[in-house]
Amino acid sequence: PKSFKSLIYSKHDVDNCSEVLSVKEYVPKENLKESIVLRTLAFPINPSDINQLQGVYPSIPEKTLDFSTDEPAAVAGNEGLFEVIHVPTKASDKFKVGDWVIPLKSNQGTWTDYKAITNPSDLIKVNGLDLLSAATVSVNGCTAYQLVNNYIKWDSTGSNNEWIIQNAGTSGVSKLVTQIAKARGIKTLSVIRDRDNFDEVAQELENKYGATKVISETMNNDKTFGKQDLPKILGPNGTIKLALNSVGGKSSSSIARKLEKNALMLTYGGMSKQPVSLPTSLYIFKGLTSKGYWITENTKKNPSEKVETVEGFIKLYQEGHIETPNLSRDFNHIEWDVSNDKDILEKVKEGINAKGKKQIVLL
Ligand code: NDP
Repeated sequence: PKSFKSLIYSKHDVDNCSEVLSVKEYVPKENLKESIVLRTLAFPINPSDINQLQGVYPSIPEKTLDFSTDEPAAVAGNEGLFEVIHVPTKASDKFKVGDWVIPLKSNQGTWTDYKAITNPSDLIKVNGLDLLSAATVSVNGCTAYQLVNNYIKWDSTGSNNEWIIQNAGTSGVSKLVTQIAKARGIKTLSVIRDRDNFDEVAQELENKYGATKVISETMNNDKTFGKQDLPKILGPNGTIKLALNSVGGKSSSSIARKLEKNALMLTYGGMSKQPVSLPTSLYIFKGLTSKGYWITENTKKNPSEKVETVEGFIKLYQEGHIETPNLSRDFNHIEWDVSNDKDILEKVKEGINAKGKKQIVLL
């Protein structure tokens, strides 16, 4: 390609963030012969991408004049899957044409049709995954993998009846947590919001996504359930060593109450928009530790850990431990016809404002 086309922004708008986007065609500043040139295959619209456009996210790319704009601008998006279409000689030991790759770090601008990378270590190879898993491994895949693997010293034999409890059990991250945990012999108790088709959703999470047991928020909040039913679910010597909280509010205190002594709660999301609430007694009498988790910061601090995480995820996938996502069941997809700028802008704006399934743009 002689020019690239990207979805860019110069300003932020907290109330109407999709309005800050525009489609821009420009000649890339990089020398393409000397760069790894990438063609975009897919990118998801993640909550953090939206928060960046709103201007409320603590990590934001630098705006530059590289895109033939009057005002400094940045390409939107932090995650995406790309196919290598040109490799300069200096990188030919690392990459070949046809490889599937993702950016190592966030803030690289992924809502684009092509991309040029000058430093080969800015990319991670993801050959061996299906398109949808590869396009979402960087944020949700890596988050789930690190939440399960990086904080607790699990019994490596898998025979100790050790559990994780998590809320928002229907989320993309949570469905990966249950599968990754199952592969390691760790059991999972997933809490989901009450709903009319609770049994159907619970069964799918248990049978397809490897949750050991699914309970409702009503059960989670019910103290009698905690005393009488929970021990039966956990079984002899069953202990909950880790709580994963992406909801906050009452849900967070109810999952924390089920932890064993000296356990850990990691908060990685706040879907209810309520503050994390924790009973004082858990800190004083049960030695609870409560910490936050942020993949962006982990990768900034330790880029090689991100590479290892992706490799670990791919290994689990290839061993058959991770369910292949389904485009129509798991996503709402948007096709980017690069000859029609108005169309993609409208569709991405709709995608940003939509609720429900994850939005993914395919090229
Ligand atoms: P999904 O869109 O797949 O799932 C959203 C989940 O939130 C669903 O389980 C939904 O449950 C639940 N939910 C929605 N609204 C509410 C509410 N008001 N109260 C309680 N639950 C609610 O999300 P992802 O898996 O992509 O992300 C999940 C969370 O993790 C997000 O908050 C995201 O920002 C965060 N995240 C954080 C990362 C980090 O590094 N800290 C990295 C990756 C994700 P229901 O089925 O009942 O609608």
